[in-house]
Amino acid sequence: MPELRKQRWKCILCHYMYDPVMGDIEHGVKARVPFHELLHHWECPKCKSRKNLFRQVIEEESASL
Ligand SMILES: [Zn+2]
Repeated sequence: MPELRKQRWKCILCHYMYDPVMGDIEHGVKARVPFHELLHHWECPKCKSRKNLFRQVIEEESASL
C-alpha cells in the first residue's frame, strides 16, 4: 500500500493542505481517503476552491529505517 503521507495536496489559492491521513472530517471526508477519491464536488474547506486548483505536494523523503 502506498504511503498516504506522500499524497498530500495543496490549494494554490490559500495553501490549505489536504492530508489523506487526516481526511476532512468537518466536511464528511473520513481519514485515509486519498485526494483522487474525494467527491467531485468537494471543495477547499478554507476558500472553496475546486479540486482542480489543488496541486500535489511532492516531498522528498530520505529512506526511513
Ligand atoms: Zn483553498
